[in-house]
Amino acid sequence: MAGRRGAWYVPCLASLETIQELCRKENLTCKSLGITNRNLKSYEVEYLCDYKVEEGTEYFLVKWKGWPESSNTWVALKNLKCPLLLQYFHSDKNEYLSQLKRGKAVILKNHIKALNPVVAQYVVKKAKQRIALQRWKEELNRKKNHKGMILVENTVDLEGPPLDFYYINEYKPAPGINVMNGITTGCECSDCPAEKCCPEEAGFFLAYNKQKQLKIQPGLPIYECNSYCRCGPECPNRIVQKGTPYSLCIFRTNNGRGWGVKTLQKIKTKRFVMEYVGEVITSEEAERRGQLYDNQGNTYLFDLDYDSDEYTVDAARYGNVSHFVNHSCDPNLQVFNVFIDNLDLRLPRIALFSTRTIKAGEELTFDYQMKGSLDVTSDSDAVSPTRKRIRTVCKCGAMCCRGNIFLFRSSLRRKNLLHILVSLQSVVRDFQGNVVSLL
Ligand SMILES: [Zn+2]
Ligand SMILES: [Zn+2]
Ligand SMILES: [Zn+2]
Repeated sequence: MAGRRGAWYVPCLASLETIQELCRKENLTCKSLGITNRNLKSYEVEYLCDYKVEEGTEYFLVKWKGWPESSNTWVALKNLKCPLLLQYFHSDKNEYLSQLKRGKAVILKNHIKALNPVVAQYVVKKAKQRIALQRWKEELNRKKNHKGMILVENTVDLEGPPLDFYYINEYKPAPGINVMNGITTGCECSDCPAEKCCPEEAGFFLAYNKQKQLKIQPGLPIYECNSYCRCGPECPNRIVQKGTPYSLCIFRTNNGRGWGVKTLQKIKTKRFVMEYVGEVITSEEAERRGQLYDNQGNTYLFDLDYDSDEYTVDAARYGNVSHFVNHSCDPNLQVFNVFIDNLDLRLPRIALFSTRTIKAGEELTFDYQMKGSLDVTSDSDAVSPTRKRIRTVCKCGAMCCRGNIFLFRSSLRRKNLLHILVSLQSVVRDFQGNVVSLL
C-alpha cells in the first residue's frame, strides 16, 4: 500500500479487487479502497454502467462501491436512490451522442430495449474519470499548505489525473543543494517597515503597500521578513511566504493546450497569486533534462538566473498548481524573484503576481519568455546559440500573440535588467557576458 509522505513507497502487486475481497473477508473497512461501514455489509452505488428495458421495467447496471466489476448487477430504476448518479449517466450519454452528431459520424440510435455498447463504454469511462479526478482533487488539497482550495475540472475529454506528477509546497532541492542558508538575522522593527527593515538591509525598497499590493517594478527583487525578524505573522512584509490565498481550478482547456489554471475568485491587480516550485537542480542537469523535455514538446524548466546561472527549477514531476499554468503572449501574471529565509542570490524563490484585475473564472497565464518584464534580451535572437531551442506554435489566442514560442527555459534575466534599473551601470551584457549596448 502507498506509504505516507516521507515514508517508503512499495508497489503493491495485488489488484484493487483482490484487496477489496480480502478486506470483506476480514470485515475490515478502508476508505481509500472504498470499503466503508456503509457498504461492508450492504451495497452502495458507485456509478451506473448500462441501461435496458425488460417487460416494461427500466433497469440500470450498477457498479457497487468497494466491489469488483464482476459483481455488477442490474437494478430496477424504482429501487435506485441515487439521483446525482442518474443525472451523470444521462448527461454523459447525451454528451457522447451530441459529440457524434458534431463529428457528422453515424448517429447511433438508442435501442428501445438496450443501450448501444459503445455508449455504455463511454459512460463507464466518464464515471471512472470523475472518480479519479475527485480522488486527485482530495489528494491535492490534503497536500497543499496554503489557504486557497484547489479544484479539478475536465468537461472536455477523457483525460484523467497526470500519472507522474507529485504535489509539493516548496522547493525540492537535489542532493548537495542547500536552499536554506545565508540567513542569521532579521529586522528589529516592532511595526514593519521601520528603519533597517529587511528590504533596506538588502539595499532595496519594501515591495508591498498596506493593501498587500506590489509597488515595485518588474525585475526588482522582493525581500520579505523572515523567521529571525521580530515582527509577527501580520507584518505587511510577509506575503509570498503565506502561500496562495485564492481558490484555483486546474481545468482541461478546449483548444489543445492540455491542462490550464483558472481563478475561482476575483484577483485584484498586483497581488501575489502563487509560487513557482519544483526540483532545484544544477544547470548542467537542466541541460540534460531539457533535451528530453524538448522532444516531448513541454517545458517546465525555469532558470534561476537572478544573479548567476548555477541553478534551475524543474517543475515537470514535482510542483504545485503553477505546473499547470499555461503560457500566454498577453499574460495576466508576472514573475518576481523573492528572498525570505534564504539570502543566497543564486537561489531566489519565484513568485507570480497579477498584472491587472483578473475576473473569477479567468485563466491564469504567464509569459514563458518574460516579454514585458523590461527584459531586454527576451528577443529570440538573444538566446545563446549553444542552447537548443524548439519552436512551437503558440495557441494562447492573445491579440498580440507572437505566433511561435520557443520552448526553452523561463527565466528573469536579472543581470540585464538590473544594469538598467538599479545598479546604475551603463552596460547591457548578453548571455555570454559580452557588452551588447551602452545606455
Ligand atoms: Zn521590519
Ligand atoms: Zn523583517
Ligand atoms: Zn516584518
